[in-house]
Amino acid sequence: MRKRLVVIGAGPAGLPVASQVRKETDQFDIDVITDRQYFSYSPCGIPFVISGMIKSFDNLIMRGKKHYEDMDIFVHTNTLAESIDTDKQIVNTNRGSFPYDVLVIATGVKPFVPPIRGVDLKGVYFMYSLEEAIELERGLKDSNTVTIVGAGAIGLEMAYAFRKRHKDVIVIERSPHIMGSILDPDMSSIVEDYLLSSGITIIKDTEVTAFESENGKVSAVITSKGKIKTDMVLMSIGVRPNVELAAEAGIERGVTGGLVTDSSLRVRKNGRFMSNIYACGNCIEVIGGVTFRPTLSGLGSTAVRQALTVAENILGTNTVFNPIVSPGVSIIGDLEIGAVGVNSKRAIENGIIPKESIAKGLTRARYFPKGEIITVKILVDKNYRLIGSQIISKEGVKGRIDSLSFMISRGVTAHQLALIETSYVPPVSSVIDPITIAARKLIGITRDKFTMPESMDNST
Ligand SMILES: Cc1cc2nc3c(=O)[nH]c(=O)nc-3n(C[C@H](O)[C@H](O)[C@H](O)COP(=O)(O)OP(=O)(O)OC[C@H]3O[C@@H](n4cnc5c(N)ncnc54)[C@H](O)[C@@H]3O)c2cc1C
Repeated sequence: MRKRLVVIGAGPAGLPVASQVRKETDQFDIDVITDRQYFSYSPCGIPFVISGMIKSFDNLIMRGKKHYEDMDIFVHTNTLAESIDTDKQIVNTNRGSFPYDVLVIATGVKPFVPPIRGVDLKGVYFMYSLEEAIELERGLKDSNTVTIVGAGAIGLEMAYAFRKRHKDVIVIERSPHIMGSILDPDMSSIVEDYLLSSGITIIKDTEVTAFESENGKVSAVITSKGKIKTDMVLMSIGVRPNVELAAEAGIERGVTGGLVTDSSLRVRKNGRFMSNIYACGNCIEVIGGVTFRPTLSGLGSTAVRQALTVAENILGTNTVFNPIVSPGVSIIGDLEIGAVGVNSKRAIENGIIPKESIAKGLTRARYFPKGEIITVKILVDKNYRLIGSQIISKEGVKGRIDSLSFMISRGVTAHQLALIETSYVPPVSSVIDPITIAARKLIGITRDKFTMPESMDNST
């Protein structure tokens, strides 16, 4: 007899579990439950639809119900999982009960809603899902001034998108610098200068305390530094793991608020990891690959990799999910901002005193048209082991961040990185990569001490 696999959540974590299990076996009935209307779409593409670069939200949708039905997978939309009975092995929803032999919890995150006056006014948006993005797009049509609260990666991608739509854009950030969870102040100032030159107003060191309304709609943001008139607000101050459903079933949360799992991504209840319930995606706690402490991942790329681990374990392969170093790239206009590992602040919070170096270079040979400045920062611990990197340029960021991701997770040192062999071709690189230069600076090899012949320097 077939077993029953039930997946709660049809995001980048939930759906790949179902697809991957089905690709390998027909031994399961597979039901995927989502409380939303839309599924199998790319949330990461939302800012690019808002900016007009991608024509329509429809372009973000990858597959429909029919595709999954053809795979013998049933996706139940607008179906809210209300409780999980782990003894009877049943998920109760607003549309009936789903018995399971194997359960996967992939409920993602929900936006953090601060307890401030007026936060529920019309015109104040919290956007994470496609439904919310469509709502926001409607509101945008009647708005000239848009205020974004929170200068993280998503908030700033959206700020630039609004600017592309010729809106007056104001970003309010509580901290003294923007993108503070991934960038150090010296790197974030590059992004800030770019945003300012794009006509975006950035107000830092400022707390939002309330919203005011006129005619039932938001009309002003009240801050610690005064009142700002606005037609619309996007709250982008972070998310929290969406774990109440699991927690009410007795499944344990960790110090970060995410669900605790073992390395096979099985959840824990009453101190024991459960053999038939897995969790994956942004709702779970993971181990940071630099600090080796629990942390959360806000990345879709991590969610998909976890989904594949869960699928393999359901299929009987004993696969583990390793600690993460979270390589990520944001695109703001034509600026690529990459980060991996920890920044200085996160390092210090975890008891690591970082040493750091910054190198600037060109993305193409000096004489080659359209080369861009690339700024590379690398951080090491006291043993010169790589712990983080931040890279900003108008091209060439992703590949470098991904290679540093591998190096950080493998414990490579600045001395090893300084000796790395890199390829060279004038249209896409300089002879000595800025990553290598940053590593050389860190270990005290300055440009004067380079032993390479003059003919091989970066102007080749
Ligand atoms: C604007 C934006 C841009 C982004 N850009 C990037 C990027 O460039 N790169 C990147 O790696 N990541 C990016 N992300 C993050 C990425 O989208 C998330 O990491 C990813 O969506 C997490 O996947 P998930 O499946 O864990 O959760 P989600 O995508 O949040 O999915 C959760 C699912 O659970 C369902 N659910 C929750 N509770 C219940 C319930 N009680 N009953 C039934 N169903 C329930 C929901 O309906 C949904 O289907 C971006 C996110 C946004 C919003």
